[in-house]
Amino acid sequence: MNLWQDKRYYSLDTYYKEQFGDKVYKLSLNGNMTCPNRDGTLGTGGCIFCSSGGSGDFAACNKLSITEQIEEAKERVAKKVKSNRYVAYFQAYTNTYAPVSYLRSIFTEAIEHKEVVALSIATRPDCLPEEVLNLLAELNKRKPVYIELGLQTIHENSARLIRRGYSLPIFEEALNRLSGINIPVIVHVILGLPGENRKMMVATIDYLAKLPIHGIKLQLMHVLKNTELETLYLSDSKLFSLLQLEDYIELLIECLEHLPPRIVIHRLTGDGPKNLLVAPIWSGNKRLVLNTIQQELKKRDSYQGKYIRTNLE
Ligand code: SF4
Repeated sequence: MNLWQDKRYYSLDTYYKEQFGDKVYKLSLNGNMTCPNRDGTLGTGGCIFCSSGGSGDFAACNKLSITEQIEEAKERVAKKVKSNRYVAYFQAYTNTYAPVSYLRSIFTEAIEHKEVVALSIATRPDCLPEEVLNLLAELNKRKPVYIELGLQTIHENSARLIRRGYSLPIFEEALNRLSGINIPVIVHVILGLPGENRKMMVATIDYLAKLPIHGIKLQLMHVLKNTELETLYLSDSKLFSLLQLEDYIELLIECLEHLPPRIVIHRLTGDGPKNLLVAPIWSGNKRLVLNTIQQELKKRDSYQGKYIRTNLE
């Protein structure tokens, strides 16, 4: 498989080229929804790491229509984009948390855009009722639809600390139902949550490695301004020790080695906007972080699936 020879893991870029025959860019959109963790249904503060933009700080302005957002987002990436194929990424807040008629109208508007080749929809596993699943299945017949679920961790204590607001069986049920209608699922995981050691983080990866997930976003825990995580970070340095770059890379490579080669790696680091980033500051230099990861993977002759391969041999 040639993907091992360059990046040593199954990158999103490689997957998109295989799937769509060309380079594809994700355009971050804002479907103008909220989240049960914010509107009082489950809570009002949100997950403790979530910015006021609902973890969609790169998304286009929600005052614009979906088509206008797509055009605006295209302009923003125009300098580095060499193709006209895009994934419409509904990123901000919980993008299935609205009446189905509304969801149908915004997802249809996106899917009908001639340069949009697929939809990627970020949501919570407890916000996928039957009628939404039916809609997703219907849209998936027109163009591929991906669902992104923010699991972050399998450990209930950590989930309580970050105020995720649902339990692991809810995630498993959503994954099974989405798999049952052939919707690929991408799972978000945060590495470096307060109170988690390396063994716990790798346990989350091992758990996901056995499930029928399509992709994973491995995200360094980073602290953003005006979040409860920032308050915790500034007030309790004992609970909170942020990973240094070397430690993060060490951990990340171990995680990659535990993931089977079929799982697409959508992200390898934190991706907070620089104007909101409180810590760790090194994570703001994304290019340096990604280059260092690539160098280390090569230096160690490390690759995704190493753990599984060596255990099979
Ligand atoms: S579920 Fe998502 S949008 Fe809602 S508070 Fe948590 S991170 Fe933010």
